[in-house]
Amino acid sequence: MKFLKKLPHIARIFIIATTVSFGIILSAALALKFSAPNPTTVEETTSSPPKVVAVVPTSNPTEASSVIVSSQAVQIPANPTLAQKQSVENQIAYGHFPYAQANASELMIVSSYATGDKQRFESLNVEAGQALMRMMYAAREEGVWIVPVSGFRTVEQQQKLFQDQVKRRGSVEAAAKISAPAGFSEHHTGFAVDLADGKSPNQDVTLEFERTNAYRWLTRHAREFGFELSFKRNNSQGVSFEPWHWRYVGSPNALATFAHARKQS
Ligand SMILES: [Zn+2]
Repeated sequence: MKFLKKLPHIARIFIIATTVSFGIILSAALALKFSAPNPTTVEETTSSPPKVVAVVPTSNPTEASSVIVSSQAVQIPANPTLAQKQSVENQIAYGHFPYAQANASELMIVSSYATGDKQRFESLNVEAGQALMRMMYAAREEGVWIVPVSGFRTVEQQQKLFQDQVKRRGSVEAAAKISAPAGFSEHHTGFAVDLADGKSPNQDVTLEFERTNAYRWLTRHAREFGFELSFKRNNSQGVSFEPWHWRYVGSPNALATFAHARKQS
């Protein structure tokens, strides 16, 4: 510090003041660096679009059974009175309408999968099934391979599927965005079907299905065969967009079945 004494008084004060200030700034900067959380590691929770992959019930039905709104399907009258209408509206579960389970005698098989123990058959209401066959053949003529991957479901099957989604999504509300509670699935009616593209099997029952030739073909032609998309983008039921899920409305019976839902969408 001898050299300081050789300097003029003013210069000495200036050098000391500068050194002290620099020290304070450096300590403050170090303190901030070690106390503040690193912004790049805090949030890694940006959500990607939901991928729905469950088609076949696989989960065990022990959990979450208390959260199922109703395990019994409810019949909606074709021409409801005001009281019946209000009763239907009261029974809506997380945006889904109640649907009665079709009788086995009304169904026909539309596809089968796998063999042996794993073999399963998909069926639809006869009117819807025959219209689907006509539609699939028409698509094949244009090189498009439409595959029905999930048709009629019992209330019991839907219960297993929905419980699986509750487990996967963490809450009934989140599960109901992408799956219907038991008793509230259009699949109970035998008029609704999940369609896939046989040439793009990895896109079965996912949002990626929207990019397939089968989906593009369906958006142009499904209506001609009596089919329509049930859950369009931003539908007023609050259900996630489901490009794979189509319902048949080509007969008076089918049309009456979806009367409430169609008023909403
Ligand atoms: Zn479906």
